Amino acid sequence: MRHPLFVPAKRDYVRGARPRVDCILCSVRDRDAKVARLVVAEDRNFLVSLNLFPYNPGHLLGFHRRHIEDFLHLTAREVRALDRWTRRILDDLDAEYEPAGYNIGFNLGRPAGASIGHLHLHIVPRFPNEVGFIDVIGGARVHVDDPAAAARRLRKRFAPPRTGER
Ligand SMILES: [Zn+2]
Repeated sequence: MRHPLFVPAKRDYVRGARPRVDCILCSVRDRDAKVARLVVAEDRNFLVSLNLFPYNPGHLLGFHRRHIEDFLHLTAREVRALDRWTRRILDDLDAEYEPAGYNIGFNLGRPAGASIGHLHLHIVPRFPNEVGFIDVIGGARVHVDDPAAAARRLRKRFAPPRTGER
């Protein structure tokens, strides 16, 4: 059975009430008065904000100060900041909400559910007896892939033969 997902806070957003700014996360960073500021922590590389349209209590967004859209363009320093902040967010959410689990991830590209170009990490605390994972991620679909074939493809892709190996 598919559970209904109702996110009342998202209604106005979907209807087009989204603030008219070039990039909502850059606006949050710059303290633009047109956007609600829900930043909970920041340093010179990274900001952490509550999601204005949360799927669950404690749904946080982590994003780099620099407007960056391609994950592969993160600098080494930005990757370290991402790692450090992810750990800290989990630690803080554990203390605050004591969730039973988390979904952590990036939606890369519109078909994957990204509605904001500025790269951002979702951290969604999960609790017993709520809607299913796929419902929460919204727009995602389960694709059944032959695991053996997928494993072969991925092994080839990730591990080209080293010198001396056949
Ligand atoms: Zn931006």
